[in-house]
Amino acid sequence: MRFSIYRYDPEQDQAPRMQDYRLDVEAGDMMLLDALMLLKAEDESLTFRRSCREGVCGSDGMSINGVNGLACITPMSSLQEPVVLRPLPGLPVIRDLVVDMGQFYRQYEKARPYLINETPAPRTERLQSPADREKLDGLYECILCGCCSTSCPSFWWNPDKFMGPAALLQAYRFIVDSRDQATEERLADLQDAYSVFRCHGIMNCVAVCPKGLNPTQAIAQIKTLMLRKSA
Ligand code: SF4
Ligand code: SF4
Repeated sequence: MRFSIYRYDPEQDQAPRMQDYRLDVEAGDMMLLDALMLLKAEDESLTFRRSCREGVCGSDGMSINGVNGLACITPMSSLQEPVVLRPLPGLPVIRDLVVDMGQFYRQYEKARPYLINETPAPRTERLQSPADREKLDGLYECILCGCCSTSCPSFWWNPDKFMGPAALLQAYRFIVDSRDQATEERLADLQDAYSVFRCHGIMNCVAVCPKGLNPTQAIAQIKTLMLRKSA
């Protein structure tokens, strides 16, 4: 198996470079993360993030043959060689395949991703009807891997202003939550030229989401609610 992997250590290197690697094993049922672990056993300077190995923690997001995805759930058998690996685009590189997710999390924070409800907390839990609960399906499952926002041209051009698909998906998740009391405020917060209106519906975010979520649809629904409010 042949690989071409982005290498860059800002403390030592003048510029990034691509390094070729070869593994003499069969792809079989191997996932890309398994192959990376074998490569790291041979070259311990190769740096990448990983944790759960189950597509749940979202930490091993990277550009795989030009498409963002999670290494741990990408079968080697699905990839053309040489497998070209680069860090998620649009974020500063800390080292090799590891990016600084700070900008991504700052945008996420803007969505106020928590329930806002001023009424006294009930003894057990705030109940929802099954129908209201269903409205959260396709929204709450996000693992914050960043694959969507870092494949979004609007996020690349304005990472400090455009919230990006992951943060907007979360914004909508709380806007539609029947237990949340800040819907009006949340919509008002998004009423500027950048927060939501820089989405041009290109749908890169939908194409790469490893959880099969649809941030574009959530963004369109936020826009519809805003229009209804201003009508
Ligand atoms: S649909 Fe919107 S959020 Fe998704 S990639 Fe395109 S511009 Fe970005
Ligand atoms: S919406 Fe999908 S691609 Fe985007 S951060 Fe969440 S899980 Fe990752």
